[in-house]
Amino acid sequence: MPKSAMLSVSEAQSLILAATSPLPPCAIPLREAVGLVLAEDAVSDLDAPPFDKAMMDGYAVRASDAAESGAELTVIEEVTAGRTPTLPLGPGQATRIMTGAPLPAGADAVVMIERTRLLGPGRVRLDTVVKPEQNVLRRATEMRRGEVVLAAGTQLRPQEIGVLALVGRATPLCHPRPRVAIVPTGDEIVEPHEQPGPGQIRNSNGPMLLAQVQRAGAFGRLLATARDTEASLREQVSLGLQDDVLILSGGVSAGKLDLVPEVLARSGVRIEFHKVEMKPGKPMLFGVKERGNASPPTLVFGLPGNPVSGYVCFELFVRPALRRLRNVPPGPSLVQATLTVDHPHRTDRPTYHPARLTVGDRGWEAQATPWFGSADLRGLTAANALLVLPPGDHHHTAGTLVPVLRVETED
Ligand code: AMP
Ligand code: MG
Repeated sequence: MPKSAMLSVSEAQSLILAATSPLPPCAIPLREAVGLVLAEDAVSDLDAPPFDKAMMDGYAVRASDAAESGAELTVIEEVTAGRTPTLPLGPGQATRIMTGAPLPAGADAVVMIERTRLLGPGRVRLDTVVKPEQNVLRRATEMRRGEVVLAAGTQLRPQEIGVLALVGRATPLCHPRPRVAIVPTGDEIVEPHEQPGPGQIRNSNGPMLLAQVQRAGAFGRLLATARDTEASLREQVSLGLQDDVLILSGGVSAGKLDLVPEVLARSGVRIEFHKVEMKPGKPMLFGVKERGNASPPTLVFGLPGNPVSGYVCFELFVRPALRRLRNVPPGPSLVQATLTVDHPHRTDRPTYHPARLTVGDRGWEAQATPWFGSADLRGLTAANALLVLPPGDHHHTAGTLVPVLRVETED
């Protein structure tokens, strides 16, 4: 297909995913691993629990001694957590035991302290009937040594981090967080702490894209804004190409100083496509630069400069790529929602319109939010989703189902 032909959103997404594969795994300390995907099976190096364990503070007993309430037993020793019993338990005997401590040989139940009464030194009465195995967790009930406790491909939540610690995997092999460089471009751009002069605007895209990168579970770095000259762009592009992903903002439309495609091509980036059949975001560009060493190629996204276009293109194209790099399964981010308010809309391209998505009586419900087009970033602050509207002159009526893209989730 000639590079100038316009792709549909889904064709563009497929091309991006076809050029993207999970980053090579590396050993990651547990304190940095939440949200990452495990790249190896995690095998337990021990039985858990490692011994027959008391689950309550109380007395370890032989259930056969206490088939009826009121049994009186001789207390032979006290075992706190971290210590081991020294005496086996014979008939008529009890061992004072704390939660988590190993059961003495001969014991098969634990009576909680609240159900007992100390009669005098070394004598205890059980005010309850005792059943075998009561309040006891047998060795290896949770896991056996050699057992796979977490399979490769698992995304690590706090409980999985705990299990890895439990089985001694302090630095599990995981797909790392992608490193993402962001390069804003434009002669008119000043930084957020500066006062714009005539014809100037503040760099809202840089911080916004950095925040989107962070939300997507990647490490972002915001590079200096490139000016609309070949030299300035080349300098920032060559810095950004060191990372796994380079995102540029602006300079990809048809303006006189939109030099990004040309500079990327001269920097060795193979342009896979430029322009997508969508609104906002049509000038979107994607390319790939081989890195020579063992690293996978750098993915390059040229996002349109208009802030809402950049935001939408990030969600539609960059975010799925970051998921693939992290080996996170593609999220179910497209939902069918019931429109709650009529929304007449005429458009010549598939349109992503800011919307508010809620859960109501009818499941997902959505309403378009007021919006003045691709430069209206303020309008996005009322939204947590995007209505996906087809081209044509349509009167979308309340009560109908419409596809909605969720954009507020964290990967
Ligand atoms: P461009 O794609 O470079 O023609 O930019 C399209 C529009 O987006 C212009 O109005 C730019 O001023 C604006 N724009 C470009 N970069 C940024 C940025 N970093 N922050 C806010 N607006 C921007
Ligand atoms: Mg520009």
